[in-house]
Amino acid sequence: MSNGAALPHNEIERLVALRSTNLLDSPADPAFDHIAEIASELFDVPIAVISLVDKNRQWFKSIHGLDAQETPREYSFCAHAILKEDVLQVKDALLDPRFKDNPLVTGEPGIRFYAGVPLVTHEGLALGTLCLVDTHPRAELDSSQLRLLTKLRDMLMERIEALRSLSYVDPITRLPNRSRLLEDAEAMRREANELVAVSVDVFDPGYLNDLLNALGQDHYEGLIRTIQARLQTLLPDGTRLYCIGATRFAFLVQNQSPATCKGLLKKVELGLTGLIEYNGIPIETRPGLGIINLNSEDETLDWLRALICTADVAREMRTGSRYYDSVHDRAQQRAFALLSSLPVALHSEGQLSLFFQPRVDLKTGICRCVESLLRWAHPKLGAIGPTEFIPLAEKTALIRSISYWVIDAVLEQYARWKAAGHTFSVSINISSHDLDDPHFAERVAEKLALHRVPPSCVEFEVTENSLMCNFDNARAQLDALRHLGASIAIDDFGTGYNNLIYLRQIPTDVIKIDQSFIRGLPGDDKDALIVRSMVDLAHALGYQVTAEGVETSNVLEAVLELGCDEGQGYHIALPMAANELETWLEHADRHPRLGYGNSPSSFVTN
Ligand code: C2E
Ligand code: CA
Ligand code: CA
Repeated sequence: MSNGAALPHNEIERLVALRSTNLLDSPADPAFDHIAEIASELFDVPIAVISLVDKNRQWFKSIHGLDAQETPREYSFCAHAILKEDVLQVKDALLDPRFKDNPLVTGEPGIRFYAGVPLVTHEGLALGTLCLVDTHPRAELDSSQLRLLTKLRDMLMERIEALRSLSYVDPITRLPNRSRLLEDAEAMRREANELVAVSVDVFDPGYLNDLLNALGQDHYEGLIRTIQARLQTLLPDGTRLYCIGATRFAFLVQNQSPATCKGLLKKVELGLTGLIEYNGIPIETRPGLGIINLNSEDETLDWLRALICTADVAREMRTGSRYYDSVHDRAQQRAFALLSSLPVALHSEGQLSLFFQPRVDLKTGICRCVESLLRWAHPKLGAIGPTEFIPLAEKTALIRSISYWVIDAVLEQYARWKAAGHTFSVSINISSHDLDDPHFAERVAEKLALHRVPPSCVEFEVTENSLMCNFDNARAQLDALRHLGASIAIDDFGTGYNNLIYLRQIPTDVIKIDQSFIRGLPGDDKDALIVRSMVDLAHALGYQVTAEGVETSNVLEAVLELGCDEGQGYHIALPMAANELETWLEHADRHPRLGYGNSPSSFVTN
């Protein structure tokens, strides 16, 4: 703002107050238009304006005599007027060094005379002006005219203050809202030694939706007012209750001992638990109280978000109340950040990629299969392991898109290997959500055909637990995959339900014994016994057995001794990118008992 006015000393608070009026960019309001019109007639000026001085512009709430909506702040006369307590008068703008080169003076509308009275809130913050404009020079307003202009301004401010206080009130409960809570808490935080904010969720927001659909808005409003009344009786006299969301209330506890505070929270929790009846219909509440000590938290923390989140967790976990926990909060924020960026990752080049880890025949050392393992290079958070993001994705429908992405990428790569003459097969990890999709096997068949990969070259790895989620659907899809000619491996075997009755019904080819049983070998006799029984059982049922997590040559010897058919693990090879796997394969022609010393050096772990 090279030629513009200086900024008021309270500019930030001024802008906050201006926003709190909700007037900026709001539709026309006859009350404002009438005042502008009266001002124009009373003072016999062609233009009268109610102008709000925003950060970089002045926005006209009402303008009589001109067709305009806003101008840049640097040309604004009103930006000068808000610096003054009384009326700013410019008799002839062409003679005033501040304005003589102003485009609104030299060009349209050709301002010569200006008189602007600031619109000041009860806290002393000037939001804008009521101003009179003429295109001819004029004499200054006399004292009775100034009184009149000030009166009009006062009328206007009454209206603005009323609108402002409305924006601090929840329309249904008539309680102060979250903006008021934020402002009150900030003011009290500076004075109180101990300021505790409590958010009270009364029921699930999802439940609110059902309730609105079933019983309608009126019933909801009556119910929420009933809960409000109940809650108010549970709080000490004079405690201000806030309504901060459709199913959420809040209150502040100032300078109370931890014991008193605890007692109050228990009282609220118990008082809200159970049935609440409105209009003869009982509703089961499920309260969740989030608690945060504002004096012990960093001032930069968005505490209201953290508080609401804490109450949500308390409600979902049915713990009643819960104190804000920064570690949990950060983990939740990270999980949210990851989940939100996954859809982008799926569609951008280079964020997701595949590694492949060989599975070798323990007797011959030949690589029979490579397992595809997903990798994610997050543009901001760096490398994210699948153990972190796959379980998150599995909570949403995103996992299906991920699986299809993986299947496409694996088949594309595999087709190249096949064309180059490689004979190993490839395995793909899939999750219970994939098997819930009634068209999964069909789509896999389409993709196999598209990439011209024979189904017999592909194996799908599923965990026991993922089968149990929806057994019949899972079995139908696995049957269909098997029918195509693909193989099925049971992954992490031994860690799940181990329900043999169910497992027998799954068309299985390979059992992959989980690393946790393998790692302790050969020293751990119990593990050795378990592994041997698993191997015997699997062989008796006609399955091949793979030992996962082969980390040393001793383990390799042990699993061979115990009858496992194949091995996979860091001692044999780390997971690696496709081109590195090709190099590894060129050198991995030695017997496993001799070790895989020819692995690319970056992948040798022992
Ligand atoms: P998993 O299917 O059991 O894969 C084996 C995991 O063990 C891999 O971890 C692999 O890097 C690691 N591993 C291999 N050899 C050894 C060893 O000798 N010692 C130890 N300690 N670990 C070894 P990764 O790649 O981090 O994958 C973790 C899990 O993420 C996988 O476990 C699988 O459940 C899931 N996952 C990975 N890729 C995909 C995918 O494309 N789709 C789905 N649905 N899940 C995937
Ligand atoms: Ca696996
Ligand atoms: Ca596994």
